[in-house]
Amino acid sequence: MNKKNLSAYRTVAEQTGLYLDEANGTIYGRRGEYEVLIYPVTADRPYQLGINICAERPDGQLTKEEIGEFCQALKQEKILTLQQKGNLIQLSLKVITNPQTLAAAVSENLNRLVALLSSKGYVNVCQGCGTPQETRGYIMNGSRVFLCPDCYSSKYRAIMEAGQEKAARKSNVIGGIAGAFLGSLIGAACIILISQLGFVAAISGIVMAAATVKGYELLGGKMNVTGVVICSLIMIAMVYVADRLDWAIVAYRAMDAEYDLFTMFRLVPKMLEAEAIEMSSYLGNLAMVYFFALIGAVPMITAAFQKEDVSSQFGPIGQQTYNAM
Ligand SMILES: [Zn+2]
Repeated sequence: MNKKNLSAYRTVAEQTGLYLDEANGTIYGRRGEYEVLIYPVTADRPYQLGINICAERPDGQLTKEEIGEFCQALKQEKILTLQQKGNLIQLSLKVITNPQTLAAAVSENLNRLVALLSSKGYVNVCQGCGTPQETRGYIMNGSRVFLCPDCYSSKYRAIMEAGQEKAARKSNVIGGIAGAFLGSLIGAACIILISQLGFVAAISGIVMAAATVKGYELLGGKMNVTGVVICSLIMIAMVYVADRLDWAIVAYRAMDAEYDLFTMFRLVPKMLEAEAIEMSSYLGNLAMVYFFALIGAVPMITAAFQKEDVSSQFGPIGQQTYNAM
């Protein structure tokens, strides 16, 4: 969340009498009996805010007529949609980039939404168990939820237990090195095989990255900075070795097996010097495999880290304590 967006959200929070959690860009607080969370409808549009309330009434969801009436009565172009999914009611505003206009639109529409819900007999409920009671907003795996204290503590306990299990499965560097090395052998075989078949070896760089990172994860446990360094070093070395071996095989075949393959492997620098292997195609090929290994490695490593992060993404929105008005 950048500074400019946060400053606009601060204006909204001030004008609505709510609070802002700067860590996750959520405006939160209580209006009437309802817990309110205000945040972007989609993450890529920070100025398109949605006003969210979790509530239910005995006679079912908001009807089309009620929604139509609500949106029409406002006769203003600032509202996009009002919808109810389960017990979650979301009023989406249009994109408003001016902070003052945004704050005014949120404030006005929040009041109207709360007035609508209380006039229709809606009561604040927990998104977890659906019982009518006081709730607070939480961030869970990147999404925001309304939970009662009971649901919060049971989810908290479950996540803590999962976290302890994961901590117990501590990262095993030796296993990781072995796994990454075994994975990189698959990658190396792929580099040589595809090249010997006469194809451009782009895909094999990606296979090298995927197999090395997967190997580390399988035998080393969780991915961490050490893992990234180990995987990178192994990949750099193995791509070099595989590429050099690939050239040695080409030369070995051309020389009609005058020397053994190991000797040819050793002689690759000499062949480069003697221009028996063209330096530009040697370096070009190597650079390409490295490039594609990098392309393959980045998403693999990012995904491995995200997997580890899930449990830390659970916590209350905001520190502010407040009582029902
Ligand atoms: Zn609950």
